[in-house]
Amino acid sequence: MRTPFVVGNWKMNKTAAEAIQFVQEVAKGLPSQSIVESAVAVSPLYLQSMVTAAKDCPLEIMGENIFYEQSGAYTGEVSPQVLKEVGANYVLLGHSERRMYFHESDEIINRKVMAALEVGLKPIICCDETMGRQATGDQIHWVVSQILTDLRGLTDEQMKQIAIAYEPSWAIGTGTSATAEQAEEGCYLIRQTVADIYNDEIANEIRVLYGGSVNPDNIADLMAKRDIDGVLVGNASLQSDSFLKLVNYQK
Ligand code: 13P
Repeated sequence: MRTPFVVGNWKMNKTAAEAIQFVQEVAKGLPSQSIVESAVAVSPLYLQSMVTAAKDCPLEIMGENIFYEQSGAYTGEVSPQVLKEVGANYVLLGHSERRMYFHESDEIINRKVMAALEVGLKPIICCDETMGRQATGDQIHWVVSQILTDLRGLTDEQMKQIAIAYEPSWAIGTGTSATAEQAEEGCYLIRQTVADIYNDEIANEIRVLYGGSVNPDNIADLMAKRDIDGVLVGNASLQSDSFLKLVNYQK
């Protein structure tokens, strides 16, 4: 049984004061015993204060990115071990905005995955369909080629720490989500690829998320699909009332 996972991705939004206010509002509305796991990926500048503010509520505060070394002469980068030290348990890796604006390749993402796992951070790896399609010209190989490289060298045990998000960039921030059927197709492909590279047990255990214009109105249809275990949400995760509606999608 895979635990449903609602993950917000704030990107470069919110001030430090707004971030704390969000936690206080969400803490009031988040059930202490929920079958849905919830997290928000936030700026490292205020991640630690959010972790402190969220200490009595089940909301996970996670990173949006790390570097692939733990320390050293890498001006401006975020250390995986420090992110873990200040209270993150998860980190987003390979978001299409990182691939697009910071030229992150699958090789770099693979090194980041390894660096995260080394310190006990669980990666949520994003696959961008559009970029893969442009590169390979078909629908199957986009995911196979990205995942093959992103996951290179991971042991079975390490694989169980991973979640993968299907995020077609045409659906990100556009207000036009993939249909539940299209999203299921992408998530199914990802799970099948994991089954091919590893085995059915691992493929059935790992969580596959869909991201791209998810909101409180479309989440239930998406989550009803067999291979969609969670959602990765940008805009609709920024306001506490909307985030709470997402986490309570079953009601
Ligand atoms: P939107 O929900 O704003 O489309 O963003 C999706 C996303 O990029 C989550 O990582």
